[in-house]
Amino acid sequence: MIRYSRYLMPTTKETPSDAEVASHRLMLRAGLIRKVASGIYSYLPAGLRVLRKVEAIIREEMDRAGAQEVLMPAVIPAELWKESGRWDAYGKELLRFRDRAGREFCLGPTHEEVITDLVRGEVHSYRQLPLNLYQIQDKFRDEIRPRFGLMRGREFFMKDAYSFDADEEGAAGTYRKMYEAYSRIFRRMGLDFRAVEADTGAIGGSSSHEFMVIADSGEDAIVSCGGCEYSANVEKAECPPEDRDIPSSPAPGSPRKVSTPGKRTIDEVSAFLNIAPGLLIKTLLFETDKGDVAVVLSGKHEVNETKVKNYVGAEWLKLAGEDRVREITGAPSGYTGPVGLPVRVLADHSVGAIVSGATGANEQDAHLVDVVPGRDFQPEAYADVRLVEEGDRCPRCTGNLRSSRGIEVGHVFRLGTKYSRSLSATYLDAGGKEQLIVMGCYGIGVGRTAAAAIEQHHDQDGIRWPISIAPFEVCVLPVNMKNAGLVEEAKRVAGELSVRGIEALFDDRDERPGIKFKDADLVGIPLRVTFGEKNYGAGYAEIRDRTTGETDRVGISAVVDRVCAAVEEKRKECTP
Ligand code: ATP
Ligand code: MG
Repeated sequence: MIRYSRYLMPTTKETPSDAEVASHRLMLRAGLIRKVASGIYSYLPAGLRVLRKVEAIIREEMDRAGAQEVLMPAVIPAELWKESGRWDAYGKELLRFRDRAGREFCLGPTHEEVITDLVRGEVHSYRQLPLNLYQIQDKFRDEIRPRFGLMRGREFFMKDAYSFDADEEGAAGTYRKMYEAYSRIFRRMGLDFRAVEADTGAIGGSSSHEFMVIADSGEDAIVSCGGCEYSANVEKAECPPEDRDIPSSPAPGSPRKVSTPGKRTIDEVSAFLNIAPGLLIKTLLFETDKGDVAVVLSGKHEVNETKVKNYVGAEWLKLAGEDRVREITGAPSGYTGPVGLPVRVLADHSVGAIVSGATGANEQDAHLVDVVPGRDFQPEAYADVRLVEEGDRCPRCTGNLRSSRGIEVGHVFRLGTKYSRSLSATYLDAGGKEQLIVMGCYGIGVGRTAAAAIEQHHDQDGIRWPISIAPFEVCVLPVNMKNAGLVEEAKRVAGELSVRGIEALFDDRDERPGIKFKDADLVGIPLRVTFGEKNYGAGYAEIRDRTTGETDRVGISAVVDRVCAAVEEKRKECTP
């Protein structure tokens, strides 16, 4: 039993001004965390209890899946990162520094290099595979925009696991096992989540899923099919080719130039020329490390930069600035078109559906109409490079896609041989032949998961923790500390609950009842046992459920049993 009067859980009434989302606000107000610097926090006792519970669930499920716990250092020598090539590729999120001898190091944002180095030193034979290692460790990423408290910090706890298999088939099996383990983990935390298909980047591991907690405040946009299991991050969501549009007019011999003074946007041009946005061929110029590329797509759609980047195989990509657009097209932006454009042109499938459309003339205040893709310009390919939209047809079935927002709490990724190749992690197969180890990696943000749970479970009064990750299961609350008999009885109940394996907070603070009630609600303890003066006089106490708000008046002798049963019930709700 923990006594609130001696416990550091400094609740506040004020809403912190820089906290934009509920979880950040409530973690501060409930006295769970305090900020030390941007994206860097101290965890107070109750906050740490929550994180430890999240970790315990993760640990149990990792162990159940056959992974073994290790612990790697936060400080990593640059050599390992240079060997993998990421010292240069990772960019500014990697915090680099030197020791007193001038040797370069970084703070680990992720540990593929360190673990692969470990494994290449220890694993030499197929008999030692498969192997799955995980750690729960302090990561550092110098995020450009740390925000939302623990949701996007710079220093944060992550569970990261790395699997090593002899071949792709083994790796696929391990991936499935980890996917299952992740599903169990988030179910045990009482979260409403979805595993969505995720982008694997240009280097392309073979598959990847992000585990998304559904919440309006989520930073990720996802789509899910109403008709089947398909869910994907919008970065990844596939857009199958569409039906051909009805031509606005029969296609004549060649494009015609029309004057469009000051009309640059799709809406402006569409209204001015009286041509539907779907028949405008929107043209975007990108600069990439692989050179300039023009992307054309129907004016009713938006480009998906991730898809373009993957198609081009680029490390980076950015929309060309005004100066670059003028250099390439000879016109200001807003008048770019693919006809006669001196850069490679990549067309979205939606352009393939246009029989005859309009586009920029690469000349100020002018557009071309009666433009026929394939005749008037020749894209190097038709590909899927647009953003998915609400209501789009599902790429897997005939259903339609719905959009929602999610918080990425976990990520599973098939790495293939990316790191075993660059770091030469090999083994000898049964025939004595040297083979590359096939890897996977699997992350969960511990603090972000706790924050995501709050986003899903709160009301105007505070947090409503799922019991599996609540800092306490029950708050025992005597309303008047001056009433010795009442306090004694409440204390006995709190003590007995502790003996029966229930985590009880005894609110022995000499505060007004209203303050105690508010704090219990704010901190979000799932059950509250109130010892009020009138009830106590009549031999009763009151049990209140934080989530439903239901209260039960119970004879004092039955309170402990009743609370135990209620806790049991709630724990059941959090079993996978
Ligand atoms: P994001 O796109 O949100 O930056 P990421 O793709 O960089 O995430 P991973 O590298 O896959 O994330 O990291 C694994 C997990 O670590 C994520 O699923 C998330 O739960 C957590 N995580 C990543 N970055 C942060 C952060 N800045 N603060 C807290 N948790 C984080
Ligand atoms: Mg990131």
